[in-house]
Amino acid sequence: MENAGPPKVTYVPPALSEEEDSIFAHYESGINFDKYDNILVDVSGSNPPKAIMTFQEAALCDTLNRNVSKSGYVKPTPVQKHGIPIIAAGRDLMACAQTGSGKTAAFLLPILQKLMADGVAASQFSELQEPEAIIVAPTRELINQIYMEARKFAHGTCVRPVVVYGGISTGYTIREVLKGCNVLCGTPGRLLDIIGRGKVGLSKLKYLVLDEADRMLDMGFEPDMRKLVGSPGMPSKEQRQTLLFSATYPEDIQRLAADFLKTDYLFLAVGVVGGACSDVEQVVLQVDKFSKRQQLLDVLKTTGTDRTMVFVETKRQADFIATFLCQEKVSTTSIHGDREQREREQALSDFRTGKCPVLVATSVAARGLDIDHVQHVVNFDLPNNIDEYVHRIGRTGRCGNTGRAVSFFDPQNDIQLARSMVKVLSGAQQEVPSWLEELAFSAHGTSGFNPRGSTFASTDSRKGGSFPSEASRQPAAQTTGGGDDDDWE
Ligand code: AMP
Repeated sequence: MENAGPPKVTYVPPALSEEEDSIFAHYESGINFDKYDNILVDVSGSNPPKAIMTFQEAALCDTLNRNVSKSGYVKPTPVQKHGIPIIAAGRDLMACAQTGSGKTAAFLLPILQKLMADGVAASQFSELQEPEAIIVAPTRELINQIYMEARKFAHGTCVRPVVVYGGISTGYTIREVLKGCNVLCGTPGRLLDIIGRGKVGLSKLKYLVLDEADRMLDMGFEPDMRKLVGSPGMPSKEQRQTLLFSATYPEDIQRLAADFLKTDYLFLAVGVVGGACSDVEQVVLQVDKFSKRQQLLDVLKTTGTDRTMVFVETKRQADFIATFLCQEKVSTTSIHGDREQREREQALSDFRTGKCPVLVATSVAARGLDIDHVQHVVNFDLPNNIDEYVHRIGRTGRCGNTGRAVSFFDPQNDIQLARSMVKVLSGAQQEVPSWLEELAFSAHGTSGFNPRGSTFASTDSRKGGSFPSEASRQPAAQTTGGGDDDDWE
C-alpha cells in the first residue's frame, strides 16, 4: 500500500479582533523601567549615529507616533535609543540587549517608518507578493507575537504585515500572503516553503531581520538561513539591510553572523552580552531527581494563582509533569513541539488569560515570549547550556517589572552548568549559594572559567573590550536548546 504521508494540516487560526482595545492591549512597564537608563551601552564599529533620547527625535510619521503612544510607550528603552537611529541611518546591526527590554520595537519602528517614507502600500492584485521586509524567528509562537507587534504599529497605514508558520493550513497562509504583503514574518521552514512555491518574490527586499539571531544561526537553523539568503532574487548583503537581535551571542556565532552582514556593520551591546536580566531574582535549589516533584509542589504552593512557567527538558517530561500537576489539582497546561498547533495556541491562550496559571513548557517557549503577569519561572530541569537558562528566566522580569526564577540543580546531572551559573548569577548581582560555588570550583571538565568574570576577549577589533569571555560557555553545537532538538518551529 502506498504511504499516505502525514495528514494534511487544516488548522486555521481564529480571526483576529479589529478592535483598537485589543490591538493596543498592553501591560504596564514596571518600577525598574527607568533603571534601564543606567545600563552601560557600547556601540562599536565605525561612525555610529547619535542615540535618540525620545521618540520625538525618531521623527516617526504621525500614524506611527500615535500607535507608539497608544501602545503605552512614553520613552524609548536603551536598545531603542541606539537601535532606531542606527537602522534609520541604513546601517547593518548586530544588537544584544537583555530579555524583555524592547528589542522588537527597536527594529519594527525604523523599518515601518522607512516603508512609510517610501510610500509603500500593500497590493492585493499580484499573484507574486514582493515584501520589502522579512523577519525570521525560531518558533511559531514568537513569530506570531512579532507579527502582532508589527500589525499594531502598522495599524492605520497602508503597510501590511503577514505571518507564516508551520502547523497551520498552507492554503490559508497563501491566501493571506496574496492579500498583500510588505512585512513578512515567518519561521524558517514555512518561509522557505512559500518562497519555493513562487508566491513570494525577494527582489524588492530591503530589510532582513533575524530575531533570536544566535538561535537562527546555530547548527539547527544555519542551513535554512543560508538557503534563505541564497534564494533566487534575494538581494546580496550589500544590497539589503540586515539586522540581528538577541540577548545572547556565543562568540562563534558572532563570527558566523558576520557572513550575513556588511563589513561596516555596527555592534550594539546593552549591558553584558549574554547577561541575565537583573530584575529577575534567581534562586537555585540543590535537589536530586527523586525529590523534584515534591519541590515543585512546594514552590507552587507559594506562587498561588500567579502565572508560572515550568521548564522541563523533554516533550515526554512536559506531558508527564503537566498530568502530575493536574492530578494534584493545580490548573496546568503545557506546550511543546509534539502538540498540534491548535493545542499550542489554546495552551498559550489559557495561560495568558489565567485560566491555567501554570504552563509546563520545553525550550520551545524559552525565547522571546512576552506574556503579561508571568511572575515566576521554575527550571524543573535545567537546560544544558547557559544561554538557554538566560532566555528561560527572561520570561519574567520584563519591561522593568520584577520576577523570580527558581532552578532545581541536580549535581548528578547539571554539574557542567555550575561555573557558568555562578557567573551569570553574580553578573546579575544575585546571591550565589556557597554549595554552588563549591561545586563549580571542584567541577572537572569545565575549563577556562574566569572567576573575576570581567575580562573581555575580543575576536574583532570592532568589539574591542566589549565582550565578556565566552570561555565558560558551551560550544555553539550545544546551543540548540536541549534534548528536544526537533521541538522547534
Ligand atoms: P520585547 O523585549 O520587544 O519583547 O518587549 C518587552 C515588552 O516591553 C513588550 O510588552 C513591549 O510592548 C514593551 N515595551 C517595549 N518598549 C517599550 C517602551 N519604550 N515603553 C514601554 N513598554 C515597552
